[in-house]
Amino acid sequence: MATLGYDETCYISGSKWRVHDDARPQPRVVTPPTASTQEAPGAAPSDAVVLFDGTDLSGWEKHDGGGAPGWKVEDGYMEVVPESGDIRTKAQLGDCQIHLEWAAPGEVAGDSQGRGNSGVFLMGRYEIQVLDCYENPTYADGLTGGLYGQCPPLVNACRPPGQWQTYDIIWTAPRFEGDTLLRPARVTLLHNGVLLHHDKALLGPTKHKVTTHYAPHPAAGPLRLQDHGDLVRYRNIWYRPLSDYDAS
Ligand code: MG
Repeated sequence: MATLGYDETCYISGSKWRVHDDARPQPRVVTPPTASTQEAPGAAPSDAVVLFDGTDLSGWEKHDGGGAPGWKVEDGYMEVVPESGDIRTKAQLGDCQIHLEWAAPGEVAGDSQGRGNSGVFLMGRYEIQVLDCYENPTYADGLTGGLYGQCPPLVNACRPPGQWQTYDIIWTAPRFEGDTLLRPARVTLLHNGVLLHHDKALLGPTKHKVTTHYAPHPAAGPLRLQDHGDLVRYRNIWYRPLSDYDAS
């Protein structure tokens, strides 16, 4: 290959590479995702692991005890079947980028936490709230995209109920050494392309009406979706493990 860089320049501070180093490895080529529309989901990027492509729940199981999930699949989406329970991926995710799309019921019923409630639990434990907060007030740390019981989103970026909405999540798992927390989980979240959390540290796993603290758990865990009794839909769920992307 032709020489594109240099081999006599100064080293970059803190790096083993020179400025414009000819030997520095090239980033891999990834075909980016295509945009979703209300009518149809887009395509995942070429290096993503697809967790749900709209056809079946073969990559999922009941959160409570395992076994086949009770949610229904039709027309390219999955939908909560109330009282069938939360579901989770068989895949175990650590640090990652996640994309998913959800829609609250177009037929509005209930208010506050009783309207289009579901949730996305990272590592099965840490909930990013899914809720229809379009013209639906509720307590701040329970808003759409809130780190439930811990931190409200920066803004409310909800689309009207019935419309597809996107979550793009950058997740850094917590690190433990024995019983000691070395560093907390951190999350960046975009809702419909709008920033709701920027590298926000979590206080611990999600609780209801009480405070939380960390307890050690494995370095990877499932993506879990909540059955809160409302007919929330999901489609186009994929992730990219981030452990392979150290550019240092
Ligand atoms: Mg919820």
